Amino acid sequence: MPTPERQMPRRIYPLRVLGMGLGGAVVGVVLWERHASVYAWLGMVLPAFVWPHVAYLLSRRSTDPYRTEMRNLLVDSAAAAAFVPLMHFNLLPSVLLLTLTLVDKVTTGIRGLWARSIPVMLLAGVASAVLTGWHWAPETSFAVLLACLPVMTLHTLSVSVVSYQLIRQVSRQNQMLDELRRIDSLTGLFGRGHWQEQAEAALRRHHTTDEPACMLMMDIDHFKEVNDEHGHAVGDEVIRALAHVVRGHVRAGDCAGRYGGDEFAIILPGMRAQDALAIAQRIRAQAEGVRLRELPDLRLTSSIGVAPADHRHSNLRAWIESADAALYAAKKAGRNRVAGCMEPELVPAV
Ligand code: GH3
Ligand code: MG
Repeated sequence: MPTPERQMPRRIYPLRVLGMGLGGAVVGVVLWERHASVYAWLGMVLPAFVWPHVAYLLSRRSTDPYRTEMRNLLVDSAAAAAFVPLMHFNLLPSVLLLTLTLVDKVTTGIRGLWARSIPVMLLAGVASAVLTGWHWAPETSFAVLLACLPVMTLHTLSVSVVSYQLIRQVSRQNQMLDELRRIDSLTGLFGRGHWQEQAEAALRRHHTTDEPACMLMMDIDHFKEVNDEHGHAVGDEVIRALAHVVRGHVRAGDCAGRYGGDEFAIILPGMRAQDALAIAQRIRAQAEGVRLRELPDLRLTSSIGVAPADHRHSNLRAWIESADAALYAAKKAGRNRVAGCMEPELVPAV
């Protein structure tokens, strides 16, 4: 498959043919108006209509097309600057071609290319002025103005299209980054950071509107043994299977996340403790029934701690500690069970 660097000459070629061709046409109108010499015509035709094809061949044959294209882009700048004395400094096309040349360098996105172009352009401009003999005729006729219009409009449109595509691409990539930040890649549940944001919002709502909310903290029992006996790949499979069970029990407004290695945390907004305990029991029971296709004899259990939000939970940490305390109680009572922490004062709110 061709690399982006290999594709670069092919991508730039039509743009250079069009850009240099339209620029050449503008210069041509100026030359035609002042009955320029054959040499002056050659000074326009070679860079405008021959150079784009030479540039393409050079970069196609190059072992380092990127470097060659950098050089070609600087030659483009030099050609545009050389057109200025050739047009006897005709004001509108001179300013237009110099500006668009620099804009093109900026829009390549190559750091500092436009700045590197400036000395090249100065040099090419002086050399061209020496060769053509410093004629100063800045007035722009209506015909030249008309010839400038296609360059102006097509260039502006093409830069807008490229910018639009870039903006779309950046916003798509931002969405993907946001998704990566929010979603845990192993389980598809929310990642810890996003889960915490949602949990904080539920606790704030509880404090301000008294809306009930419950937190479930679930941990797989003796998970280390699964890893040790069957390997990490099977361990991952178990985590995925239990995450699937969790996902099956959450409603649209709930928030289920992977809190740690084998630990899942669920926020159930609007739910009272008794209902949350019942859901936790259903999750626990279904988790117990999970079988892996490759290891049908493997038995899995999990323990779940349930903590309703309470006004004594001054921050998320205090609420999590309540859920953790309940989970610890479930583990201590023999695992594969659900415990509720209905007494937040048992856990000091920090
Ligand atoms: P307990 O019943 O007390 O919870 O015992 P446990 O063996 O499950 O102990 P604990 O919850 O502390 O074990 C978590 C283990 O999970 C430790 C770590 O090696 C493993 N782990 C953490 N993240 C991953 C992961 O992404 N994949 C796998 N396979 N293992 C993980
Ligand atoms: Mg565990």
